[in-house]
Amino acid sequence: MSSSIEELARANVRKLVPYQSARRLGGKGDVWLNANEYPIGTAYQLSADTFNRYPECQPQAVINNYASYAGVNADQVLVSRGADEGIELLIRAFCEPGQDAVLYCPPTYGMYGVSAETFGVERRTVALREDWQLDLPAIEQNLAGVKLIYVCSPNNPTGNLLSPTDLRQLLELTAGKAIVAVDEAYIEFAPHATLVPWLAEFPHMVVLRTLSKAFALAGLRCGFTIGSPEMITLLLKVIAPYPLSTPVADIAAQALSPDGVAAMRQRVQTILENRALLVKTLTECDCVEAVYPGEGNYLVFRCSAAAAVFKSLWDQGIILRDQSKQPSLSNCLRITIGTQAENNQVIAALRAFPNAVAAKEFSKEAV
Ligand SMILES: *Cc1c(COP(=O)(O)O)cnc(C)c1O
Repeated sequence: MSSSIEELARANVRKLVPYQSARRLGGKGDVWLNANEYPIGTAYQLSADTFNRYPECQPQAVINNYASYAGVNADQVLVSRGADEGIELLIRAFCEPGQDAVLYCPPTYGMYGVSAETFGVERRTVALREDWQLDLPAIEQNLAGVKLIYVCSPNNPTGNLLSPTDLRQLLELTAGKAIVAVDEAYIEFAPHATLVPWLAEFPHMVVLRTLSKAFALAGLRCGFTIGSPEMITLLLKVIAPYPLSTPVADIAAQALSPDGVAAMRQRVQTILENRALLVKTLTECDCVEAVYPGEGNYLVFRCSAAAAVFKSLWDQGIILRDQSKQPSLSNCLRITIGTQAENNQVIAALRAFPNAVAAKEFSKEAV
């Protein structure tokens, strides 16, 4: 009986709700603005031909190129299967299941909670304040047993940067007690805000990075953890022996070459221009009540009827991400900045709402 297999599973795995990734949520669209991907792909040629051999655990070309891009030493960089694996490695290295806790501040990225739950580690949440900044007094009161804190800046999904003064205070508060992981998945869109220069001062800090967003390589599955050499040595103890396949390492090294980095900066420039235009045009739509300034390649906006707007766009093949179930995000949708043509399609659909719904009903009757 299939239920007996389920009974053999760990209790926390039985209860686990897997991460609702954009891909898992489905949809049939041609305008995909729900996963913060870059809207256009870049072609790469494989240069490796040693597929009979196991890859290097930490491919040297990838590590060296990333270290030079991030302005750190090679022994401060760990490469993994996406930033998501970095999130998980920290739990594996620092949290005793059933004993230690991780703390994070919703609304934020969903994988911190999912990873903790998978390992049977307590999830302690302290909501962001109304202004989407850290609630430091509440964090301080909830630190007992916390080994690991995730903060995300620019924060997904709200888009804002966390205050550097608050981050410094958090790091001072936690020194010697807990690890602070700063998720900089979107930092290329606001490079001045990186905390990497603080690493020398705060050895209990790590920075998470990815090639999935500004580098336009979400399909590659390649991310980075930047920290002290001591931290990287620890994480290397718990990583898989061959976390990156040879083709992934090959392409990652190309994407991080000087030409690759220059192309990334060009893409960021385009996204920032398109984002400014999207903010302006979204604000002018009748069904949009508020557009929040965002620092990433996405925006959240509040609608008078988010569920209906979401559904109407979905039916037209435009897939956004509904955030209205998250704390302090009622009636909010998140939109990834697409190409200019895609953004125009969204605006046209929003301008037509709710008339688009009515027109559809009408055309059904006419058939
Ligand atoms: C997309 C995203 C990640 C995951 O990055 P991968 O490298 O694709 O695993 C991590 N953190 C945040 C905040 C993200 O939005």
